Amino acid sequence: MKEGSGHHKEIGLRLKTRRQDILRLIASAASALVVVACSGGDSLQPTPEATPSTTTSPATRTTSPARPASPPAPSPPAPTPTTAGDPGEPRGLPIDATQPVGLTDYRDENRTLAWGAGPGALAYSRDYQPGGDHFAGNAGGWNCRVHVAFEGHPAVDWYIPVGTPIRATMNGTATLFTITTTNAFDYYDRPRAPYVGFPMPTASVSPFPGPGGGKGVYIEVRNQEFVTESAHLSLAPTMAIVPKGAFLPGFESGAPLVEQFAPMRSYLDATPIASWTVARGDVIGFSGDSGYSEAPHLHYTIRRTAGGSLLCPTAEDGFADGGWLFR
Ligand SMILES: [Zn+2]
Repeated sequence: MKEGSGHHKEIGLRLKTRRQDILRLIASAASALVVVACSGGDSLQPTPEATPSTTTSPATRTTSPARPASPPAPSPPAPTPTTAGDPGEPRGLPIDATQPVGLTDYRDENRTLAWGAGPGALAYSRDYQPGGDHFAGNAGGWNCRVHVAFEGHPAVDWYIPVGTPIRATMNGTATLFTITTTNAFDYYDRPRAPYVGFPMPTASVSPFPGPGGGKGVYIEVRNQEFVTESAHLSLAPTMAIVPKGAFLPGFESGAPLVEQFAPMRSYLDATPIASWTVARGDVIGFSGDSGYSEAPHLHYTIRRTAGGSLLCPTAEDGFADGGWLFR
């Protein structure tokens, strides 16, 4: 991510900051009405099938529910995610459960990331679950609630370094799509920092005059029952692991494809590049910072093939059919 020169100094401070301190600071600012753009262009990204029901205009996504009075209770130690059972169901994490994740810090308006300061991905997913407190969720970098509250659909963002292997969470057909390989913040020359984690009202939900780049480079895994998406990937390393013969007509592996998709296009203009069969656990790509991405991260969603509405990957309250990460 691109930061000012003061970023590294701030990281040192943040590493010493305990979560309780963060929560206390959160509480002091809890009355603010907040606007969020967590991976905000995601809201402008219907699925490739252009499911219209979850798409709202930026102007309608400006309110926040009131914050609960107390922080969430500590969670028990996270068990190893279950990956047994029906391989056609999306289970477990699409990244290494022990992969250290970044911790967002929004105590000041910079709201930068402390890389690796967060827990492993599984603990981050479970222990930092807000339980109705999306402020606390964002203190942990947990964003399912954010997507629900401000973008109309559940999703999970793990702040992980570019190049992290992404794995299939179920058996199915993987399709690599490309909207753009360019980061929208870079493209429009806008600062990213205010959008990391939990933007306050000073940061508009959609800062861009045009399409925001959406999910950038992303991989869909589809079978008869489910569709998962892993977004904001890096195109070149992902293309390098696409099996021989999997590229769709007109495409092939190599640098020219990266250049071809660098110019910003409409977030609706997702082009399938390659398609191949995968099994749960297969590496299907590498994380990145493409599309509308305020910092390198993985955006992960699950939905049913029929119907199109997204399922909450977490066990967060408010969803009849959630908890897919932990099954
Ligand atoms: Zn996201």
